[in-house]
Amino acid sequence: MVIPIAILLTIGTLVFTLLVRSKDVPAPEQVSPTQHLDERKAQIYDNLRDLQFEYRLGKLSDEDYQKTKLGLQAELAKVLAEIDAIKAQQPQAVKSVLKSVPKPAAASTTCPHCGATFDRPLKFCGECGKAMA
Ligand SMILES: [Zn+2]
Repeated sequence: MVIPIAILLTIGTLVFTLLVRSKDVPAPEQVSPTQHLDERKAQIYDNLRDLQFEYRLGKLSDEDYQKTKLGLQAELAKVLAEIDAIKAQQPQAVKSVLKSVPKPAAASTTCPHCGATFDRPLKFCGECGKAMA
């Protein structure tokens, strides 16, 4: 009585883990890490536009305009560098997820000996009769 329950629990945990990994993990990773930086970037672009607009209207002196512009550009460069750093880390995580998912299914439906493909995974090839694993 104890062993079947333990086996069911193990299988249930494995299935749950696999389903959660393939569906839920990539989405929040793509949305959250750069979101606040993207918002900050948009804000700085807005400020630069406003600054340029006010300078053209003659509300700002050359000196004030250049000083504020350089400050905003320095901040923008910092934000862009942070976004690049986060994006440089991300593809590795995405690649490892992609690598782990499609390969097992593809390997067992294609015969490694004659190259015949089948709709579902087989232990032995239907064309040449050799082991598919
Ligand atoms: Zn074969």
